[in-house]
Amino acid sequence: MISAMQTPHLSRQTGKPETRPRWKRELAEAIRDPDELCQILGLDPALGRAAVGASGVFPFLVPRGFVARMQPGNPTDPLLLQVLPQPDELHEVPGFSADPLAEHHARRAGGMLQKYAGRCLLLLTGGCAINCRYCFRREFPYAESGATPASTPAALAAVQADPTLREVILSGGDPLLIDDPQLEHLLDHLEAIPHLRRLRIHSRLPVVLPSRLTSRLLDRLSGSRLTVSLVIHANHPAELDETVAHALRQAAAAIPLRLNQAVLLRGINDSADTLADLSERLLDLGVSPYYLHLLDAVTGTSAFAVSDRRGQELITALRQRLPGYAVPRLARELPGEPSKHWLA
Ligand code: SF4
Repeated sequence: MISAMQTPHLSRQTGKPETRPRWKRELAEAIRDPDELCQILGLDPALGRAAVGASGVFPFLVPRGFVARMQPGNPTDPLLLQVLPQPDELHEVPGFSADPLAEHHARRAGGMLQKYAGRCLLLLTGGCAINCRYCFRREFPYAESGATPASTPAALAAVQADPTLREVILSGGDPLLIDDPQLEHLLDHLEAIPHLRRLRIHSRLPVVLPSRLTSRLLDRLSGSRLTVSLVIHANHPAELDETVAHALRQAAAAIPLRLNQAVLLRGINDSADTLADLSERLLDLGVSPYYLHLLDAVTGTSAFAVSDRRGQELITALRQRLPGYAVPRLARELPGEPSKHWLA
């Protein structure tokens, strides 16, 4: 007999008991229609209609758990502005282009990119659990990039053949969209490459879909011979609710080094108060503020741009308020450079 506590979750789509892991279910149930989002938040339906028209090039996608952290009735909510398509995304703006980082030049094999010495990126998928409007890869040609599990053997062969590589960075899209058995298989291969020492995972899922940090995944990572680090991506303290806090506390036991990268975004986190709150909240959760990225000049993202000078002023203000380890480094990527460009 099934008790009330054991009542299985029913699929929204089929009405039948769910067998998928929770994170896959939440991903399947993510909102894909801006009208529905505006309805849930009690916003003017005209915002939703405008967003539908603006979402053709880069589709709209947001998990319901992330929406639950937005303030109902507030059209300038900082989480909403990160995901709601805006008509000005469709306008061409001088200085903004499809591939400002010239990442296609960095491709070595399969989904393997090498931009800097000693480490390389493995692009495992072009998909994400959320489509951030400011995304630097919103125009990236994933279909031609080899960012698929099927092309991973070629990428692994390139890693194996280069003894100068010490670190592999799993990236995407979002690499944690790959499910646990596939990631375990990948880890088996990486651990068998003797010159590799470190594995870094760059993912926004711990923030936007925290159920993705399954105990199976954390167990496997904690048992790895590679030193594993996790770089999450949160831009605003309101993103870090109790569901995220719980997941990150569980991750702490398995992944000793947890860092955050944020993007400096106009109207979202371009104030010293917001950035200081973000750093404080991250530290509460055992995550070090690592990078504050200046926006990459990708087509459709110009509304989010903050000047270099304003970024430097904000870092100066943070240094006056926080201990040094709580102040992220202000960085910009420049195509073809041997490292990131540090502005503060
Ligand atoms: S999660 Fe990262 S890669 Fe995915 S859309 Fe957002 S910024 Fe882009």
